[in-house]
Amino acid sequence: MGWVLGACGQTPTSADGAPAEHAERRFEFERVLMGVPFRIVAYGADAEAVARAARAAFARVKELNLVFSDYDPDSELRRLVAEAPSQPKKISADLARVLLLSRRLWEQSGGAFDPSVGPMVKLWRNARRSGELPTPELLAAARARRGFDDLILDAATETVAFRRPDLAIDLGAIAKGYAADEALAVLRAQGFPRALVDGGGDLSLGEPPPSEPGWRVAVEALDDPERAAAELVLANAAVATSGDAWQYVEIDGVRYAHIIDPETGLGLGERFSVTVIAPTGALADGLATALCVLGPARGPALVALHPGVEAWITTPQGTTHCTGKVPGSFPVP
Ligand code: AMP
Ligand code: MG
Repeated sequence: MGWVLGACGQTPTSADGAPAEHAERRFEFERVLMGVPFRIVAYGADAEAVARAARAAFARVKELNLVFSDYDPDSELRRLVAEAPSQPKKISADLARVLLLSRRLWEQSGGAFDPSVGPMVKLWRNARRSGELPTPELLAAARARRGFDDLILDAATETVAFRRPDLAIDLGAIAKGYAADEALAVLRAQGFPRALVDGGGDLSLGEPPPSEPGWRVAVEALDDPERAAAELVLANAAVATSGDAWQYVEIDGVRYAHIIDPETGLGLGERFSVTVIAPTGALADGLATALCVLGPARGPALVALHPGVEAWITTPQGTTHCTGKVPGSFPVP
């Protein structure tokens, strides 16, 4: 979603133009997981072995859906929120890692990235179904349940405790990027590092295709999804895109995106699109959502905290490009 992958390398040929023996070929696989089409592109010489690795990678995403899903009442996260344990409770390593990164992003973004918007996300989904905004009372009640700091996380022991029983957590802004990273890790571990995982717009990229400097990723223009605005050539990195291009509801002539401004409780109204390059998919995914809320005025300060991150924040007024600081690039006082 939001990405067009350019020519990712053809079947390699030998010097005389004939297909090289045992040459790595390009394979592509797709499966709907976490509510989006998950796509794997991988290079390998043995078709059967590549297919096996892709199946294992998809299985890992399926496993992670059982941890993070907001739609499956049996997911680890849904069961945890339903139980809202007041005493420390052991959670999976995957949930602990994603909650830890979420807490960092929550702190660094001044609460613009806030997984405790769960109740507001539910109101937004109802509004999309009914075409009506939630009443001020419902909005106020959902806003009152906000407060990610009411989740006490101990990353060392992988436990959480809830300070309030009505705290609801939604990790939809970060889980797909994490899942793309984990699927790529499976492909690498099975001997296929020249691979790409696309989790519906959250891309984790491994080593480049044979004889290519990187994977070509085209970023769409905000005003015209058919036109590519820029082409990126990347390897061993992740790219995420967030915005209101696909998921929004229009009520009384106002667009509300599926990304919530935690201050108002409503979906963002302005048109926007954010693209983030980061070392990991989880970070790219989380930052992209946070930058949608922060916008071009407040976003660059968050990006500055992350070495190796590059972001474009586009609104109808134009695009703001910002980068994280490279360690060691500052004059020592
Ligand atoms: P993404 O497509 O990665 O930008 O994630 C959007 C999803 O993140 C929404 O569908 C919600 O589940 C969740 N979400 C919405 N607003 C926020 C927010 N301000 N902070 C964290 N998660 C949010
Ligand atoms: Mg996101």
